[in-house]
Formats: sequence, C-alpha cells, structure tokens
Amino acid sequence: MNSLDLLRSVPDLADHEVRRLLAAASGRHWTELLLGVELTTGEVEAFRALVEKRRAGEPLQYIEGVVPFGPIEVAVDRRVLIPRPETEQLFELACDAVEAPQVIVDLCTGSGNLALALKHTFRTAAVYATDLSADAIDVARYNAAEAGLDVTFLEGDLFEPLPEHLRGRVDLIVSNPPYIAESEVPDLPADVRDHEPHMALVAGPAGDEVLRRIAADAPGWLKPGGTIICEISEFHAPEVAGHFADLDGAIEMDLSGKERFVIGVAPR
Ligand code: GLN
Repeated sequence: MNSLDLLRSVPDLADHEVRRLLAAASGRHWTELLLGVELTTGEVEAFRALVEKRRAGEPLQYIEGVVPFGPIEVAVDRRVLIPRPETEQLFELACDAVEAPQVIVDLCTGSGNLALALKHTFRTAAVYATDLSADAIDVARYNAAEAGLDVTFLEGDLFEPLPEHLRGRVDLIVSNPPYIAESEVPDLPADVRDHEPHMALVAGPAGDEVLRRIAADAPGWLKPGGTIICEISEFHAPEVAGHFADLDGAIEMDLSGKERFVIGVAPR
C-alpha cells in the first residue's frame, strides 16, 4: 500500500500524529512517507496497531518511545512522566543560573531528563538524581547508559538517599516534583490522567506537599550562594513562594505566562 493513501486513511487523528505513528511503525522518516512510498503488509499492520493504541488514549510519546529534551533524547514508557516543554525551560533557567557547578542534584528525576541534560551541559559536575520509584530509576539508568553520561541515580525519597558528604556542598538543585492536588486529578486531560504515573503527578490533598518538604531541606544541602529551581503549579505560587522564604527567592513565568518556577538562592 502507498504511504500517502495510508496517511489519509485515519481522518479522526491529527495529520502530524498520523505521520508520526506511521514513522514509528515503519522506521521510515516522515519526509519519505510524504513523498509516497510502497509499504509492506507488515508495516501497514504495525501502523494499524499503533493507531488503535492512540485511539485508546495512549500518549504519542509512549508509542514513539523517545522524547527530545534540550540537548539530549530520553526513552519514556508508562513507568515515567513524559518530559514537558515547561521542564525544558526549567533546564534553561538552571543553565543560566549557575557557572561551572561542581555538584548538581535532581529530585524526582523520572526518566532522568533533567539530570542527564545538565550532565551533558556541565561535563565536569558530579550529578546525583533521586526518585522514590524503583521503576523510574531503572528507566533513568537506561537513558544514562544510552547517552553515555555518568550520573548517579539513587532510589529513595527526595534528599534521603544522597551521600551525607554533599551537605552544604550542592551548587544547583533542580526538581520537577509532583505538584498536582488530589482534587485536581479529575480535571486532567484523559491521556495524562489515565496513562501517566500518578505518583509523578499528584502530591497530596493540597498539591504543595512535596515542594514544602523540598523547601524545608534544601537550605541544608545548598552551598552558600547555591541555587534551587523547582517547577510548580500556577495555582499554588503564593504558598510555594512562602515555603522558600528562607532563601532569596523569585517566581518565574513559563512561556504561556503562568507562574511556573520557584528559584531560591542560599545566603552567602
Ligand atoms: N524529572 C522528570 C520530568 O521532569 C520527572 C518528574 C516527575 O516524575 N515528577 O519530566
């Protein structure tokens, strides 16, 4: 079957999604598919199967299996959150906030996206990343191996698994922690709510529980003048800013003008 006919055969999905599904099913680049190429029965069947998955709400990124993130690419599946453009902006803010950092910590690392992008950028830094989910740590270690980047991934709750000798020595802490309130879950888009790990999304009844704990412990791990940057909910910015009051702090907007990041700098 010709790829152009096949691409036209799924009018209920967006054109760019259909192209990406066919590229994923056939291993061919979408430019080749748009020029019109004969596909094997196997490729057509594989495509039909992916279309059914997508129709059932499976996120496109899980179907494709990889997501670009800043200067790198990470593998993702149902064990980890899909990295978002907001989190790429967090990565850029972090790069701008520090100069030649020696020690970097990423909390709630998920696929390892932030930790690995930072290690890629700051080659001489020692990068540590933690996550409560053993599954997420497995994905992150796989991504590190694929990228050939040396990051220490530790399973455990926030700062708890970090080596004690890092106390007071960390130049940069980043985190995209769970920050959704339980009551907000019904309002999430269905493909997020039904397919991405709730543990990575939902913090508790209020939504700021994990950020509160990060804010309480961060000053003890940062070196004087060290920086912490976390992604936050646009609905909780005032409370979260209050949690970080011990640091010299600011709230930054994301590209759509929502209060999305808290930045704190430890006193010198
Ligand atoms: N660090 C990952 C991300 O930003 C995972 C975050 C999480 O699991 N809460 O996408």
